[in-house]
Amino acid sequence: MSKKTFACKDIGMQCGFTAEAKDEHELMGKIAKHAKEAHQMNTIDDATMKKVKAAIKSA
Ligand SMILES: [Zn+2]
Repeated sequence: MSKKTFACKDIGMQCGFTAEAKDEHELMGKIAKHAKEAHQMNTIDDATMKKVKAAIKSA
């Protein structure tokens, strides 16, 4: 099974957060929680969502 990883710095954030999960759905949940807590993003707008999805890597 491959897993999905994400690093906040890959979308240009000055942030050391990384996440990994077994699939994109679970990973997006972790990213949304982090964005809310660390970046005060209560919702992720479409432009940011596109960047996030482009930055997700399969490991
Ligand atoms: Zn971050």
